[in-house]
Amino acid sequence: MSVDLTTPVRFLKGIGDRRAEAFARLGVHTAGDLLRHLPHRYLDASTVTPLARAKVGDEVACVGRVIAKGVMPTRRGLRIFRAVLRDASGMLECAWPGQSFLDRTIEVGQTLLVSGPVRFYHGRQLVPREFLVLADAGSEDGAPEAGMILPVYPATEGLSHRQIRALVDRHLDTLTGQVREVLPPAVLGGLDLPGAAEAYRAAHRPRSLAEAEAGRRRLAFDELLDQQLMLVRARTLAKRQRAGVAFTLRKDLTSRLRAALPWPLTDDQKRALREITADMTAPERMHRLLLGDVGTGKTVVALFAMLLAVENDFQAALMAPTELLAEQHAATLAGLLAPLGILPEVLLGRQSAAEKKAARARLADGRSRLVVGTHALFQESVAFHRLGLAVIDEQHRFGVEQRAALVGKGSAPDVLLLSATPIPRSLALTRYGDLDVSILRERPPGRGAIRTAVRTAGQRERVLDFVRETVTGGGQAYVVLPVIEESEKADLRAATTMAEALQVRWPDLAVGLVHGRLKPEERDDVMRRFRAGEVKVLVATTVIEVGIDVPSATVMVIEHPERFGLAQLHQLRGRIGRGAGESHCILLSDGRPPDRLRAFARTTDGFEIAELDLRERGMGDLIGARQSGGWELRVARLPEDEDLLQAAHRAAAGLLAADPALQRAEHRALRERAVGRFPRAVDLFRTG
Ligand code: ADP
Ligand code: MG
Repeated sequence: MSVDLTTPVRFLKGIGDRRAEAFARLGVHTAGDLLRHLPHRYLDASTVTPLARAKVGDEVACVGRVIAKGVMPTRRGLRIFRAVLRDASGMLECAWPGQSFLDRTIEVGQTLLVSGPVRFYHGRQLVPREFLVLADAGSEDGAPEAGMILPVYPATEGLSHRQIRALVDRHLDTLTGQVREVLPPAVLGGLDLPGAAEAYRAAHRPRSLAEAEAGRRRLAFDELLDQQLMLVRARTLAKRQRAGVAFTLRKDLTSRLRAALPWPLTDDQKRALREITADMTAPERMHRLLLGDVGTGKTVVALFAMLLAVENDFQAALMAPTELLAEQHAATLAGLLAPLGILPEVLLGRQSAAEKKAARARLADGRSRLVVGTHALFQESVAFHRLGLAVIDEQHRFGVEQRAALVGKGSAPDVLLLSATPIPRSLALTRYGDLDVSILRERPPGRGAIRTAVRTAGQRERVLDFVRETVTGGGQAYVVLPVIEESEKADLRAATTMAEALQVRWPDLAVGLVHGRLKPEERDDVMRRFRAGEVKVLVATTVIEVGIDVPSATVMVIEHPERFGLAQLHQLRGRIGRGAGESHCILLSDGRPPDRLRAFARTTDGFEIAELDLRERGMGDLIGARQSGGWELRVARLPEDEDLLQAAHRAAAGLLAADPALQRAEHRALRERAVGRFPRAVDLFRTG
């Protein structure tokens, strides 16, 4: 049969049912998917050094056959895996310290490509940074010819990267022959990038690393363009859909709130408020994100927006992701609103049926103007009299398409999203390209500073004594651990064990424990007792990350801090420093603390930490699959590809300005590809 890009891989030569199943696990179903299954790295075997000529001090790549191997303990107790390689020129020993498990992977008779530095240790020894099995024992294939760049593919059980490489290589010419250029010449012409078919060829069968990178960049541009097409289109649609609410500046409740506030707004808060007010008073619908680190004062900004709706005889709702946060918001708003004589309505899952019914009735007939609740607020049984503004706290739990769904609702209110997850500028375009963004960067003055210290395990006793002192002095403390229970595998002090140990150590203090395996009600209960000051020391896993505000908690000890990402550490640290006094965050590292933790200790600027985190871990974690709701990027890398992102954004805006739903014949292929890549966005490109 003839092969095209939609042919199931099962029908390709060399791929049977079993391999097709394995490919399916990699997300490869069709021949086109196989073509798009790109190498995640390359090994440069273009300059292979004969084993005999690998000199101490050099960085080399060598190819040789394994003639002996084994695991040897050293005097210092480290287990080293060693293998001796031979080629036509001679022999060389390779050593992998601490990687005895390789004994199960590497076999005598295999041909290996190894690359790394050559050291002197009882003779020459190559310490591979990378290695690749080129051929199994007894087989001749796979040994690279001179001048080869070896693509390494994401593999899976039953399908090695070598098998994938061979299969891709076998079908590459046929498949690239089917690739059509979908970029309009005007777009492609403005870029210094290869054509589509050439890009796939270069990515899969490069003649140099530079060529491979050029191919990847072209494919990354395509991916970013598809994504920007979706986001720019979503934003246009959201703006075009008019809710019919153009609020007027009555300066009634909003002015009274401003007069009643015990402190002036920060400049950032004022700017955000101007932007929000401009949106809300315009006839177009607001679709804005208020982005600011914990403690930058988003709540009061949101409250002004809510009062603007209320003084226009509309209702405003604030939705929080958990019951506890909803309660906390309700208490905060009640405090701020007390001078105005307004009491916010509260709607929570744990209220009695009668309470809920009464609250729903007040919302339905408009007696309640301002309501705080959980997602229960958007359930069908809840009808608003006239909802003018929906504020969504910690909005990152909602994906782009969920927000789009909200936008598409009948009598659509203005939408203000709040997020306490600062992200680098370069990501704002990919993550929030469909939103307008206001940023709070400066913290209000007069709040307690947070000092961060990095300590080692030897200082644990002193750290715990300090916790004890703080607590007996009227404070409270968090002790954060990365895992719930001790496990055989990792020698990590677990939350449960820690809580027990601390309770034994301090029998007179109430020690609480929260972790992700508790039922939400149990967790909320412990958190409530902590907030009320009954529980003095709270041992926790990362579940306390989200938005909890306990001013007298001024100490946080984080165990195994190296196990956390910097952004996550920052979120955790944001739980302290909520009161007036100074707070202390102590990172208790087991070994020598890595530089990244020291860098973290030096700054409290969330945006700066987000940049550090991005550089450290790549964007995979920041825009993890969990958070991106199917919009994750696979080829593009940020921030390295930021230039491509900007170019893609400009191209998308230009294309959509000329052809808003990409309905023209010359844009059809482009539209289909974009929708094929981000299927949930198909609705965005229906005509209209
Ligand atoms: P976020 O929601 O951004 O984490 P909050 O809105 O909870 O921050 O505000 C944090 C604290 O700062 C609250 O106690 C709030 O009352 C206070 N606050 C907000 N704005 C100001 C300001 N301009 N000056 C002083 N304190 C402020
Ligand atoms: Mg908040």
